[in-house]
Formats: sequence, structure tokens, C-alpha cells
Amino acid sequence: MFLDALCSRCGEKAIYFKAYSGEYFCASCFGRSVEEKVVKTISKYNMLKYGERILLMVSGGKDSLAMLRILDKIARPHGSELVAATIDEGIEGYREDAVEIAQNACLSLNVPHHVFGFKELFGYTMDKIEKLKDEQSSCSLCGILRRRAMDVVAQKLDIHVVATAHNLDDILQTFLINLLNNDVKRLPWNLLAHNETERFSQRRIKPLAEIYEEELALYSFLNKERFQGVSCPYMHEGIRSEIRSILNTLEKKHPGVKYSMLKSMIEVSENTKGTTAKEIQECKQCGYPTFSNTCSVCSLLNQLNQTVAKNVSKER
Ligand code: SF4
Ligand code: ZN
Ligand code: ZN
Repeated sequence: MFLDALCSRCGEKAIYFKAYSGEYFCASCFGRSVEEKVVKTISKYNMLKYGERILLMVSGGKDSLAMLRILDKIARPHGSELVAATIDEGIEGYREDAVEIAQNACLSLNVPHHVFGFKELFGYTMDKIEKLKDEQSSCSLCGILRRRAMDVVAQKLDIHVVATAHNLDDILQTFLINLLNNDVKRLPWNLLAHNETERFSQRRIKPLAEIYEEELALYSFLNKERFQGVSCPYMHEGIRSEIRSILNTLEKKHPGVKYSMLKSMIEVSENTKGTTAKEIQECKQCGYPTFSNTCSVCSLLNQLNQTVAKNVSKER
């Protein structure tokens, strides 16, 4: 049935069926439909104002390159200024390729691109952290530093809005992981457009929040995008891959269930926002907002410094 189907918009041969809307798309109408959806998301959640300077976090993966391409098409002509940055965690054999891909993509669209390394920002690469850490998950440590890196970079580059390329699937998975871990404080972080902290004026937005992961993969494929294909050697998805597969099964049986869950997630996140904001205080070491006396970045760096000091004294 599908092979003979025609595009619901223009009547050309269809290549994709959106089960949740019942529409068939040819390649060019599909690309436009993704871009239109991003425009709607930006407007629905008031993500951008005229003339703002937007920092695009471009990792070199397919989603961030799609975000770069889409915002270049839809936000730039409406007065937004785009700047891109890649965070280099310092993972040998993995990140170098991604940085080069991000650089080339930005160059081809004439978007200024900056690279900021964990080593320069925090004194440690992820490779070094991997050797020094205890049982903690690499991704959660990497995430702690990456979130701080985004704040630092946004301030350095005098940015109004920071855009990350989280897609619908990423956002729902993270929400469920936080729920399953009883990590209620993090629920408001899932909001699609908000101030990450009260201390900084930059907003965080997720313009791809209503695009399915599989749609972004097809969008990249149709644009012949070259993206980082190698997986990070420290990646340990844990429960995330199980949640991904459960959500995909549900979506297959009940098209549109992911959108309905997104709406619930936004309501729950909005309702928990006020309750967690009261507990935010300044880190006694660095002054960044935190839920405890010492922020997670300072705690991590203290732990790493102590391990280094212990290792040095053992060697003596
Ligand atoms: Fe960092 Fe984990 Fe991503 Fe690797 S997979 S870059 S450790 S968050
Ligand atoms: Zn068409
Ligand atoms: Zn701190």
C-alpha cells in the first residue's frame, strides 16, 4: 500500500507516512513539514524574540546539524543572529571527527562556530575523568560539566538564547528517567523554553521538541548530511534504551501517544517548577545556583582533585 501512496500535499510519490496525522509525504514536502513544525513549536512556546542572538549547541550529531540547517532557514531571515558552539569533552578518537563535521557545516552556512573544551573550562578531559572517577556513570558526570559549559559559553559569547537539539523522543525519555529515579527536582528542566537558572538571563530552548527522532533521521538522510556516526566509548544508555523501545512500541500501537505524553510532561513540569525554585541557593565555592551548599560541578572537581592528590602521594 505504502509504495503506491502519493504525497497528501502535492501528489508526488510518497516516501513517508506520518501515522499520527494520517498524511503521506514526498521528500520535499516532508522536509518542509519538519521545518514548519519547528516554526510552530517556536511560536507556540514563545521561544524566540526578534533580533536575538541564538547560540546553537552543535555536537556534530544528526539532530544538532538538522537544528543548524532548520534555524538557518527559518530564524535567520526573521532577524535572529546565529552563533554555534561545540563542546569538546576530550574523548580521543570520538570527538575530533564531530568537531570537524560541526565546523564544516557551520562554515558552509556562514554561521560563526566556536569550540570549547572541558580541559580548558574545568582542567580535566573526559578521558582523564574516566580514569579518576569511582562507580559514577560517565554520562551523568559528562552531563554535569556539559550543562555548566553551556552557561559559561553563553556568557562568553553574549548570548540571549541557547538552543539545544533535543528531539521529542529524547525529552520524553529524560522525563521518564527522572520520574523513575524519583528525581522530581529535575522535572522542570524538561520544559521546552525556560531560564535554566534564575541567575542567568539566557533562556534555554528546544526547538526540535515536537519532532520525532525518526523524522530527524530521515530529514538528515534526505539532506545528505554527513554526521558523527561513531558512538562515544563511554556511552552507557542503561534504562534509556529500554524506555526508548517501550515508547516506540506504544507509538506504533497508538499513533500520537508521544505528543499526548509531551503535553502531560509540560503540565507536570510547570506545576513542579515553583516547588523546586524555592530550594535553589548559591554554591559556596563558585556562586552558581544549586540545590545544596556545593554545586555538582564543584563537588565533582573537588572529588577529582582529591583523587589526583591521593595518587600523587601514593607515588611518592
Ligand atoms: Fe558524554 Fe556520555 Fe555523551 Fe559520551 S555518551 S559524550 S560520556 S554524555
Ligand atoms: Zn509532496
Ligand atoms: Zn560550585
